Amino acid sequence: YLSIKGLAKSFGENEVLKDVNVDIQKGEVVSIIGPSGSGKTTLLRCFNGLEDPDKGLFTFHDGQILNFEEKMNKRDIVQFSRRSGMVFQAYHLFPHKTALENVMEGPIIVQKRNKAEVRQEAETLLEKVGLKDKMNFYPHQLSGGQQQRVGIARALALKPELMLFDEPTSALDPELIGEVLTVIKDLVKENWTMIIVTHEIQFAGEVSDKVLFMDGGYIIEQGTPDEVLKSPKEERTKRFLQRIL
Ligand code: ATP
Repeated sequence: YLSIKGLAKSFGENEVLKDVNVDIQKGEVVSIIGPSGSGKTTLLRCFNGLEDPDKGLFTFHDGQILNFEEKMNKRDIVQFSRRSGMVFQAYHLFPHKTALENVMEGPIIVQKRNKAEVRQEAETLLEKVGLKDKMNFYPHQLSGGQQQRVGIARALALKPELMLFDEPTSALDPELIGEVLTVIKDLVKENWTMIIVTHEIQFAGEVSDKVLFMDGGYIIEQGTPDEVLKSPKEERTKRFLQRIL
C-alpha cells in the first residue's frame, strides 16, 4: 500500500526521526512500540500530514509519490492527508457537539456530503462501536472509553484507506481499556489497514501482522510479533521488552 524511504524530521536541533524506512501492505496491521520520546507519535503524524517531514519519499500503491524534500502542490497534500483517519490519545472530540454530531462533522464539513446519508452512516458506526444508545450524549456525559469509541467512529466516518491510532488507550483508566481494544480488534477482523502506536505489548502481539520497534529516531527492528516480541535480535529491543514485561 505504501513504501516510505529515508523519512527524517527534526524539531529545531532535535532530530526526532533520523532515517525511517518502512513498507505497509494493504490490510496489514502494524504496531509501533518503543520507549518514550523515541519518535513513535511523530512518525504516525507524518503518515497523515499532521507533521511535515524534512525528508522522505512516500510511494503509494496507486502511483501517488510524495517527495518531502521538494515543494509539493496543495492538491497532492490534500489527497495524501485524506487517505488516513487518526484516533488520538486524548480523543479531541468537539465538546459542544453530541456523539452523533462529532461523527457527522468530517463527512459534512470536509467531504461536503449529503447530511441525511451521513447521518445514517454515523448512526451505524456508533452502533458498531456499541454506542447507539449514547448517540445524543455530549462528550462530558461519556466515560473516557466511550469518548474514545466515538473517536474511532469519527475517524471511520471519513472512510479512510488507512487507520492510524496514537496510543488509543493510554489516557484511559485500566478498566476502560478493554472496551476500546475490543473495538480495534473488530476492525482487525474487517481487514482495515492500520498503524497502531501502543504501549499494550500483549495486544500488539495479538493483533499485529508486523511490529516495529523504534528507538532514537530509527526503526531498530521489525518483523512478525513472534520475531520482535518473543525472539528479538537487537540488544535495545531485548532491554526495552525486559523493562516493560
Ligand atoms: P511517547 O511514548 O512518550 O508518546 P514518542 O515515542 O511518541 O513518545 P514523540 O512524541 O514522537 O515520541 O516525541 C519524540 C521527540 O520529539 C520528543 O523529544 C518530543 O519532545 C519531540 N517533539 C514532538 N513533537 C514536538 C513538537 N511539536 N515540537 C517540538 N518537539 C516535539
